[in-house]
Amino acid sequence: MTNPLLSHWDTPFEVAPFAQISDDDFAPAFDIAITKARENIGVISDNTDTPTFENTIEALEQAAESFERVLSVFYNLAGADSTPKREELQRDFSPKLAAFSSEINMNAALFCRVETLWQSRDDLGLTGEQSRVLMLHRRGFVRAGAMLEGANRDRLKEVLERLAVLGTEFSQNLLADERDWFMELAAGDLDGLPDFVLDAASAAAQEKGLGGHVVTLSRSLITPFLQFSIRRDLRQKAYEAFVARGANGGDTDNRAIAAQTLALRQERAQLLGYKDFASFKLETEMAKTPDAVRKLLMDVWEPAKAAANADAEILARMMHEDGVNGELEAWDWRYYSEKRRLIEHDLDEAELKPYLQLDRMIEAAFDCANRLFGLEFSPLDVGLYHEDARAWEVTRSGQHVAVFIGDYFARGPKRSGAWCSAMRSQKKLGGDVRPIVVNVCNFAKGEPALLSFDDARTLFHEFGHALHQMLSDVTYESISGTSVSRDFVELPSQLFEHWLEVPEVLKKFATHAQTGEPMPADMLKRLLAAGTYDMGFSTVEYVASALVDLEFHNGATPTDPMAKQAEVLAGLGMPHAIRMRHATPQFAHVFSGDGYSSAYYSYMWSEVMDADAFGAFEEAGGAFDPAMAKLLEEHILSAGGSKDPEELYMAFRGRMPGVQALLKGRGLAS
Ligand SMILES: [Zn+2]
Repeated sequence: MTNPLLSHWDTPFEVAPFAQISDDDFAPAFDIAITKARENIGVISDNTDTPTFENTIEALEQAAESFERVLSVFYNLAGADSTPKREELQRDFSPKLAAFSSEINMNAALFCRVETLWQSRDDLGLTGEQSRVLMLHRRGFVRAGAMLEGANRDRLKEVLERLAVLGTEFSQNLLADERDWFMELAAGDLDGLPDFVLDAASAAAQEKGLGGHVVTLSRSLITPFLQFSIRRDLRQKAYEAFVARGANGGDTDNRAIAAQTLALRQERAQLLGYKDFASFKLETEMAKTPDAVRKLLMDVWEPAKAAANADAEILARMMHEDGVNGELEAWDWRYYSEKRRLIEHDLDEAELKPYLQLDRMIEAAFDCANRLFGLEFSPLDVGLYHEDARAWEVTRSGQHVAVFIGDYFARGPKRSGAWCSAMRSQKKLGGDVRPIVVNVCNFAKGEPALLSFDDARTLFHEFGHALHQMLSDVTYESISGTSVSRDFVELPSQLFEHWLEVPEVLKKFATHAQTGEPMPADMLKRLLAAGTYDMGFSTVEYVASALVDLEFHNGATPTDPMAKQAEVLAGLGMPHAIRMRHATPQFAHVFSGDGYSSAYYSYMWSEVMDADAFGAFEEAGGAFDPAMAKLLEEHILSAGGSKDPEELYMAFRGRMPGVQALLKGRGLAS
């Protein structure tokens, strides 16, 4: 029988036939498809015809198509629904993939053809998109070591393979620690927990094959536990387990991996002629330099710290009045902050939550996409990899646009956090290919599933990334959808979050799970008024993480990352009761791979633009202004990486923004 991963997929929209694929199919499919890709690359590099854009760049774009198809199925499953077998395959594949990409990037004959095209680029009659794709391919080769020779070339190859192995180990260790730990709650341990937390804790117990209630390290369970449990001892225990992920000693400890990763990244950058890894990494981002990143972060840090310190005093006073002596600790912050929110904004998460049903929030995201871009969503009956995952067909004026898959619930084999990925990206080279886009979240289950406002924001965030993929309209896959610089990629996602806070959206979709009544007007008002509540805390925990990430990669490499982390935080005057959003041993953004390394600041860089971009809608006549929606689609959501991001933003807005709109949006403007 032929390998189902390599066959034609006779399914709706050629969604992978998950039911037919077994874990045993991946390794043989990987080997066959990589061999085919290698042959295709060989044909390009051995070609004796004069290099042309078509016989070199377009051929390269298409050389690994079936290999990429195998990988996209595999990595989507490995992230959303892992098994020990899949983890083992991941460990096996990652060095092989790194070696394969080095093999391409260091293929001298191939690079020579690309370089020939690059040198004669003005005479090739290329379209704007083609010029950009040529530039990006050539830059990719150079930055991967195509111009290195001899021992340096060999060493870089080794370094890249080792980094790939370390990145995989880092995420697997984290997943193991997250999966292993849980805390059973006896009947007397439930005080203060509202129904939705009890439901989620009971669902988590069932998933573990237990009765009663358990707290796990899933963010959507541990956060409300820390907000509501009146048991300070249990909050401390849960919190300490949460921040110990990846730092528990033994086989799953990530601290040595972090140190090795940083040293190898530095070596990689220096082999390529850069001062340090941050300089290498940021060169191709909008920010360009470590100094530009530091400036933005510090502009935000000081006002955020001042706000957080003022808040800490108020929370400490509340704690003392509660009869608890001593300093406010990290496991106290959310608890007293929740109480204060109730006092100051009369906003009770438990009262709010029944109005935020998962299914209604999905409808809300779809409805906004419909009003802005004319997209329509209809349920698609297609077999997926897990019963919790759901699919929709996305159309516009009756035309197929994309398949959208939502996989919203937390479960043990799922990586933590939330993300958007594509099982297939949009492109027009070789036929009009429409995307298959996936949003994965970790929301707590329930009947019906209820979200916190933060969860709802996450749903909108990931859906914004999905729009960037679904509305993509470019010829070449390498610049399709979210294939843009890291500090630009969060613009569509964070921008879309703003629509969740549009009053008419909440009025329509925030309906009570039992009564079906819309959220009362005064609750809606209180919710929106509390929009910037506790922003000092969340800004501090984020910016501290971003600055530690930056300092890890800028200048001399720390031999002891934990000591460096402590040094950076001390230098910043980190408030006592706030920790980094992601401390080093669990900082998957930075250590699971290269994506956000020295680039965790990207969210904030994008936020400068999203605050300003939403302002453009408000100025123009409202959140659903059709002319602005058209500009947004034309210059940003459909454009992928077809132009320099600054050029795209300028075309949309006519100018670049400053940091003020961001500070105002966070309630931190003086
Ligand atoms: Zn994002």
